[in-house]
Amino acid sequence: MTKNKSDATDKKSDLAYNARNCWDVYSSAADRKLVNARADEYMRFLSTCKTERETIDYVLAAAEKAGFSQELTPTTQAYVRAQRGKTILLARRGKRPLSEGFRLVGAHADTPRIDLKQHPLYEDTDLGLMKTHYYGGIRKYQWLARELALHGVVVKKDGTLINVSVGEDPSEPVLTITDLLPHLAYKQVEQKVSDAFEAEKLNAVVGHEPAFDKKDTADENAAKENGRVKRHVLELLHSRYGINEADLFSAELQLVPAGPARSVGLDSSMIGGYGHDDRSCVFAALTALLAEKTPEHTQLVLFWDKEEIGSEGATGAQSYFFEYALDEILDSWEPGARLSRVFERGMAISADVNAAVDPDHLDVYEKRNAAYMGYGACFNKFTGHRGKVGANDAHPEFIAFLRNILDEAGVPWQMAELGKVDLGGGGTVAKFLAVYGMDVIDMGPAVLSMHSPFEVLSKVDMHATIEAFRAFLKS
Ligand code: MN
Ligand code: MN
Repeated sequence: MTKNKSDATDKKSDLAYNARNCWDVYSSAADRKLVNARADEYMRFLSTCKTERETIDYVLAAAEKAGFSQELTPTTQAYVRAQRGKTILLARRGKRPLSEGFRLVGAHADTPRIDLKQHPLYEDTDLGLMKTHYYGGIRKYQWLARELALHGVVVKKDGTLINVSVGEDPSEPVLTITDLLPHLAYKQVEQKVSDAFEAEKLNAVVGHEPAFDKKDTADENAAKENGRVKRHVLELLHSRYGINEADLFSAELQLVPAGPARSVGLDSSMIGGYGHDDRSCVFAALTALLAEKTPEHTQLVLFWDKEEIGSEGATGAQSYFFEYALDEILDSWEPGARLSRVFERGMAISADVNAAVDPDHLDVYEKRNAAYMGYGACFNKFTGHRGKVGANDAHPEFIAFLRNILDEAGVPWQMAELGKVDLGGGGTVAKFLAVYGMDVIDMGPAVLSMHSPFEVLSKVDMHATIEAFRAFLKS
């Protein structure tokens, strides 16, 4: 057996691995100030960006403000390209040519939610309602009896795009999906959760007051056909947005938790809000990129849509958007170089959240290989389910490279996998990057209540994640 260099230099005290709590690592007054400033900025971002379109708009504006150009020329140093308002690539040129590889941080901007159907509006028992079809993995009961905001777009036949956002400002009304009162739930509480909450009962209450024609008397109005509540809602939609019922066919309208992200805990140490998965990684990657301005290798930051439904579609990670965009960048910055080589020499972090150990549900975690709140961004060597099926499994050579970078930079991090073996599982975009031959691993902060309307993230983990992405992007 040969004894390698690191064996010889490791101190005896380093023999056993000890995780570092980020609150201890970032304990100086200056560090805490930055932790809180970043948390405040992130909470503003999370409160503003509730859909993938709103997130991409935010990123595009921030990129342009920081000097990224939508025009690609042989001398462009910082380039940004958005696709259909739902996916975006930011590229900053490194000192080394692209053919020596790149550093990519990729995350997703879509989030589980409740979409309106294309025939949403109807009336029942004198209430105006809208039919929905949920998007991504939700626990249906979490979305009942709470304030929901309506976000999205409606496109008219002439191509006019109308942005809709109702329910965020306290002066605006919200929508809601009702729940059964406990007095009449004796039968329901005996059912399995999967049977007790049906998707077709996730209907949003959107109106109650019937249409009233002022030129007619009250009796004449009362004598009119049923459907006056629905008609009133249509009148409101027309007066506010200039749309009619058929325009809802060409619409993407999403019900999301209403209201801003909030500090959580008596010590305000955490952030509660909608969409940490995966907007925490969007924010961390963007912040890291904007902070590391003189890269050795070309830096890429890429935000996709559709991760929560399998990365499908023209704006998901399985689309050719990244390949096409990188092909054009290479053609402009290094004509004649081979795209396949660039991909093969690339290094990527698939930035996505992990499940933090929940003290009320310890039975689903394997405590020695689980992620904990407050221990920094978490590496997932693999995802998948039942014997790593469907996983990208990161190479140990790459993990060693990353460990070295983060330890050198003094950034705390942790290594984990998602829950006990055979209890569940999940997937990310990592495998769609791995097909190009690049090195890729999943990494992101651990959150509580993932996929719920109110996910919880540690403020210090957000800070550590930004620092980890910075160290990687400048490597
Ligand atoms: Mn995710
Ligand atoms: Mn998710």
